[in-house]
Amino acid sequence: MPARSAHAFTPIAADPGLSPIGTLPGVGPALAATLAKLGLERVQDLWFHLPLRYEDKTRVTAIAELRAGERAQVLGTVEAVERGFRYRPQLKVAIGDDSRQTLLLRFFHFHRAQAEQLRPGLRVLCYGEVRHGAQGLEMVHPQYQRVAEGEAVAVDERLSPVYPTTEGLGQKRLAGVIGKALAVLPPDAALELIPPSLCAAHGLTSLREALLYVHRPPPDAPLAELVNGRHPAQQRLAFEELLTQHLSLKRMRAAVRRRRAAVLDGAGELRRRFVQGLPFELTGAQQRVTRDVFADLAQAKPMLRLVQGDVGSGKTAVAALAALAAVEAGWQVALMAPTELLAEQHLRSFRHWLEPLGVAVEWLAGKQQGKARTSALARVAGGTPVVVGTHALMQEGVVFGRLGLVIVDEQHRFGVQQRLALRDKGLEGGLVPHQLVLTATPIPRTLAMSSYADLDVSSIDELPPGRTPVQTVAVSNARRAEVIERIRAACTEGRQAYWVCTLIEESEQLRAQAAEVAHAELSAALGGCGVGLIHGRMKPKEKQAVMDAFKGGGLAVLVATTVIEVGVDVPNASLMVIENSERLGLAQLHQLRGRVGRGAVASNCVLLYQPPLGQLARERLNVMRETCDGFRIAEKDLELRGPGEVLGTRQTGQLAFRIADLARDAYLLPAVQQVGQAMLKEQPRAAERLIERWIGAAARYVHA
Ligand code: ADP
Ligand code: MG
Repeated sequence: MPARSAHAFTPIAADPGLSPIGTLPGVGPALAATLAKLGLERVQDLWFHLPLRYEDKTRVTAIAELRAGERAQVLGTVEAVERGFRYRPQLKVAIGDDSRQTLLLRFFHFHRAQAEQLRPGLRVLCYGEVRHGAQGLEMVHPQYQRVAEGEAVAVDERLSPVYPTTEGLGQKRLAGVIGKALAVLPPDAALELIPPSLCAAHGLTSLREALLYVHRPPPDAPLAELVNGRHPAQQRLAFEELLTQHLSLKRMRAAVRRRRAAVLDGAGELRRRFVQGLPFELTGAQQRVTRDVFADLAQAKPMLRLVQGDVGSGKTAVAALAALAAVEAGWQVALMAPTELLAEQHLRSFRHWLEPLGVAVEWLAGKQQGKARTSALARVAGGTPVVVGTHALMQEGVVFGRLGLVIVDEQHRFGVQQRLALRDKGLEGGLVPHQLVLTATPIPRTLAMSSYADLDVSSIDELPPGRTPVQTVAVSNARRAEVIERIRAACTEGRQAYWVCTLIEESEQLRAQAAEVAHAELSAALGGCGVGLIHGRMKPKEKQAVMDAFKGGGLAVLVATTVIEVGVDVPNASLMVIENSERLGLAQLHQLRGRVGRGAVASNCVLLYQPPLGQLARERLNVMRETCDGFRIAEKDLELRGPGEVLGTRQTGQLAFRIADLARDAYLLPAVQQVGQAMLKEQPRAAERLIERWIGAAARYVHA
């Protein structure tokens, strides 16, 4: 941490937020150690440890009025108890109430005492999430307490916050410590880090009140607003969190900009030969973006550029040109992709394009073992010009000889931290590598201002000529046989098709199984057409063989899991069927559909769904039917996703927020940006303290 003493006029020593948590009454070393596991070390860390959600135990809901998906409190009498051992121990407790309906409570972990206590006739007050089960509505592992005969039921007065926590630290205890920390929350004048003039200009209300409100909502708090994160107190904090993120990305960017990078401005001979050898002309957009990249590479400061272009816009050729610019200047290039399948595709494209120019391309993947790995590592350390791989490139033990440029494809799968890790790989005589990030996920402008504030952005806003938009229809699974018949017809015309199996929550193993089942079904139904199968549990060699067969036309149909989501490029494939399409988000559907429509033939996409369709799913499928424009789809996605997205379900690799939700709070971003700019200029110290406060340990790590 920087020395504070230089700022003699700021009474920082008195800032209670900076005191260690152990200084709070009743917090001993053991509790402090547990809290440290959550990254909670100083008093202010507790102030900003915000509730994930709230539980409403202020009322009791009749079983007849329960709806799946809700959390509710129910008062019932145990009617029947069953202990089962079919797959694993299970305790099923049926309770009933005055509404004459039954609710099933299901426990997979329980003590014997618990099982014995829950006897018919016992009254219980339970709270949990209601869902559809095989025998009607149920709650899995509800919280519950016994209510003695004749005892009045005590409901809570206010909503109870639920905090992110860790093993061995219950909600009550955590809330207790947070309460102690809140007791020393200073008045606004000392707490507020955003200058008063900026607060006034943007209508930011009291930070102190906002914190107290979200930690302890008053009894009359509007539940719906709080649940959706739209209460003014939550929005006040969301603003500050977005601001902090913005400031920290800006700071990271400034730190990178202060470093120096190799000047990559070779003669251009390799690039010329590459372009001449291509079977197509670069589009105007590809040329423009390539010029942006070359201009960056010719500078002695590191490039940080995001190239966004819809699926099929030709980002790989741009990446190859950037790579050649580095190679020509005598530097090494690392190309990193998020999945092995995509990395393998890049490997083949790059070998196909670059080896005829005398440029060697090395492969480095996580699964590589033994001698192959040792010799690959040796060549990478020795300075092989181009290295292609997965995140294995970032692992310890991978040493680059002369890394000058890092290309990251499909960036949304990687986090900022991961990008930084790879950057640090390249440190060569104090020089850091240039960074080029490719993404097919169009980023609405508002988001580009926040999540990607550390990057310059170029857009490939034009598709190669001759592409025909994909015709999309949504079809109920009840008409599955017709769809299969249609595939047969298409195959006899020499067309090729993808059949994508989607299972979301399950493991890779279950996904593979589902694909195997579909593969068997289609093989039986489409006798005569070659049907292949590809999924994430196959060995790289097997996957490659299947992809080769499909690419070469030996297979007419490829049954696949969503492993084909990114990057797969087989121009002759012109039909795609996506199973359970109602379960996928817009971004993923768009990615998948981008696998067809790559050649000149008209392409079709069939979105198979399992009725009945929910409102949101229906809207998503409608958007897909109406447009193929990635930008429109991304904007729509942002609109539809709304508040449902809770912290726990965010995609990995994306920044996790405590309270902000980029989709819900995007409207705050323009103001966030203004305040951020002003603070960096006028109050850089306050900006630092804000980052310290919200990002804390993570920020210290980034700085290290
Ligand atoms: P993405 O941007 O999705 O990564 P790719 O780089 O995989 O797209 O390119 C999609 C397909 O378009 C590939 O088959 C590629 O060879 C082809 N392609 C790229 N640029 C052009 C172009 N200017 N004209 C015609 N085809 C192109
Ligand atoms: Mg690509």
